[in-house]
Amino acid sequence: MASLPLNIAIIGAGLSGLSLALALHQQNIACTIYESRSAPLNTGGAVMLSPNALQILDALGVYDRIRVEGYNFETLDYRDASGQLLEVYEFGGKKKYGYAGLRIYRHVLIDELLAMLKEKAVPIVFGKKFAKVVSETEEEVTWEFAGGTTQSADFLVGADGIHSTVRRYLYPDLETTFTGMAGVTAAVPTEQLKLPVGYHIPVTVSTPQAGFVIAPQGVDGSEVLIGKQRRVAENHDKAGWDRILADKEEFVKFLQKDAEHFPEFVQNAVSHIPHDKINVWPFYVVPKLEEWASEKRRVIILGDGAHAIPPSAGQGINQAFEDAYIFALLLGQADKVDSKDSLGFWQRYRQERVEKVLLLNSQIDFRRMPKEEQDKMPAGSKKDIELSWLFEPDFKADVDRWVAGQVSKGA
Ligand SMILES: Cc1cc2nc3c(=O)[nH]c(=O)nc-3n(C[C@H](O)[C@H](O)[C@H](O)COP(=O)(O)OP(=O)(O)OC[C@H]3O[C@@H](n4cnc5c(N)ncnc54)[C@H](O)[C@@H]3O)c2cc1C
Repeated sequence: MASLPLNIAIIGAGLSGLSLALALHQQNIACTIYESRSAPLNTGGAVMLSPNALQILDALGVYDRIRVEGYNFETLDYRDASGQLLEVYEFGGKKKYGYAGLRIYRHVLIDELLAMLKEKAVPIVFGKKFAKVVSETEEEVTWEFAGGTTQSADFLVGADGIHSTVRRYLYPDLETTFTGMAGVTAAVPTEQLKLPVGYHIPVTVSTPQAGFVIAPQGVDGSEVLIGKQRRVAENHDKAGWDRILADKEEFVKFLQKDAEHFPEFVQNAVSHIPHDKINVWPFYVVPKLEEWASEKRRVIILGDGAHAIPPSAGQGINQAFEDAYIFALLLGQADKVDSKDSLGFWQRYRQERVEKVLLLNSQIDFRRMPKEEQDKMPAGSKKDIELSWLFEPDFKADVDRWVAGQVSKGA
């Protein structure tokens, strides 16, 4: 059993770190966020939130504040260039799953989380870069910041992203794997597209050359994200990516390439692309990690640092919210259950869902392959996609059931 009250340090003020702080506060657990940047990281653009994450944001009191700040939608269409509907993928559903999907600018979501943390007086220290863990005992962990100052807490949580420094304490030699693909996106006014009347977006239009994504954003959908995936021959370090990303015109040309094979509204979409609206997301993956916590269980990693997920099912951020919320629910019961056992349950529970998401990704990737490629795959590959396990979990009931089982075992 952990001695209460607990004191948690969170490294990173991204979406995982901010939502974790809010969830811990709800459990009356004190925490401080340390962020290396002088302001929150905003990689730009909008993100898509699905019902599994929205029920968490609802439980944390965030949903009512953001629902009216984003674009609500329920399905993603897949069409060929002639306009034929190939498939409809659900990304939410008010009736079916309790929540429509929500496309919201990342900075709007971050600002709302920051405002709520401020209202609750949860401290966030910007410009404080975690360097390394100095020591860990059964009771606490001590770490060093860049510059040499040290600090201690009951738990240190690495919410510091895909290239996590905290993770190095658990896995000194681990390297993330670059998938060789990057998402290239831009934002343009919706009216520029001159979409046919009644044409549903979000949509992915597929041709043998590429898949072209169009997704509305802004409360009224007056802007759309447009994008394609691009092969990138080699991995780069940060300086290398920065150099590549600086050549915006190159990405405009990439988005415009093969436009003649697409319907006229795609050609309109790429006819004028402002450089400052271009975004590039190189896809990295973290290999499956046996442990998301150190041996003494005082150092934990979550979010992208524990399991970066490729984008097919749009679950990267949504899964990070799940990590944070369930971790906080379990720590909130630290007076009843040994936190080592809780962490073991947390990782098993979360990893099982992440693995199901990876499987879902491959099902979705399969369906986006050209027909001739699909035909070469084993029969049964094209199973129907069933999403209630993803969109309708009852996290609180699952945690309460597990805690009750542990308590009765100990009784
Ligand atoms: C261009 C782009 C577009 C994306 N679009 C989508 C999308 O549409 N949908 C989706 O689901 N996912 C998307 N992703 C992925 C998504 O951003 C991640 O899954 C999500 O941000 C993970 O959140 P996180 O909090 O774990 O990590 P991050 O958002 O990376 O946050 C980590 C934070 O830790 C800080 N930090 C790092 N090191 C230290 C240190 N040593 N000390 C202190 N602080 C530190 C960083 O500055 C940062 O603020 C996109 C990613 C990119 C790059």
